[in-house]
Amino acid sequence: MKLNNSPITQHKFEGIEFFLKRDDMLHPQFSGNKARKFMYLLQSEQPQIKTLISYGSPQANSLYSLAALCKLKGWKLEYYVDRIPDWLRDKPIGNYGGALKLRAKVIAVHDTSFHPVDFIQTVRCPDSSCLVVAEGGREQDAQHGIKGLADEIVSWSQSQKSMDFVVALPSGTGTTSAYLQQFLKPYGIEVITCPCVGGKDYLIDQIQSLNIDSLPQIQQLGNKHHFGKLYHNDYQIWLALLEQTRVEFDLLYDPMMWQCLLNWHPNNSDKTILYIHQGGVLGNESMLPRYQRKFGR
Ligand SMILES: *Cc1c(COP(=O)(O)O)cnc(C)c1O
Repeated sequence: MKLNNSPITQHKFEGIEFFLKRDDMLHPQFSGNKARKFMYLLQSEQPQIKTLISYGSPQANSLYSLAALCKLKGWKLEYYVDRIPDWLRDKPIGNYGGALKLRAKVIAVHDTSFHPVDFIQTVRCPDSSCLVVAEGGREQDAQHGIKGLADEIVSWSQSQKSMDFVVALPSGTGTTSAYLQQFLKPYGIEVITCPCVGGKDYLIDQIQSLNIDSLPQIQQLGNKHHFGKLYHNDYQIWLALLEQTRVEFDLLYDPMMWQCLLNWHPNNSDKTILYIHQGGVLGNESMLPRYQRKFGR
């Protein structure tokens, strides 16, 4: 099975014309950058594998993507989390709800006092019918799918006349932005990103742990920003994006990147932005009500 060639559409935001790579439309369930990062698993042929095992947050985009992947492959998914908040357990929505519908098993290990990683190794003890995937797909194997994305960008950019492109995307672990910049650099296409999790130093550490030696251009906001917290500016820019582009962006990562881009653009107005929509929209189902409760509609 092959998933590729997501469309590229054209939009305008706050007077800035930009292109949008719709990786959120790769597949109805298996989409976004997690689909690119897990593409090597979709394409792998390992008939001995019956169960995929991973861990992370019960609200993570990777939980839903892995559940979708397992459905496509006919594998079982066991996903270990520290704990599942009561409100989410009572009313499963967003990535958690979507994953349960795809028959994922989400297992909280809090009561055992093990960290999910240790629980998997010491208690679960995966055998040769299991495949263990690191949190959020931070792995060198992720590069195969990201290479596919880079190839699509290169061939599209070559069909556009004499434009100076900058590829923009927000980072969590930085796996996607770092591999993209590695593959796009030979073509003179720059990649800019921003650290949504843990700041610039954390992002650089994560990228270097993948043995990538050159970095994407890293933009930052002036004020401190904590992953998963609610910020009025994030909500406002997300609403403005929705209104002006009619595209739903993700609420966790995209608002920060767009704020950075609005600061960056005045000094770089000769460049054309190709923004990568990395999916994650199902996660808005649990984020948006929190924003509406806090800041109103
Ligand atoms: C996971 C994710 C990211 C971050 O990707 P990294 O490769 O970890 O940097 C950004 N946006 C969305 C929507 C995601 O799901």
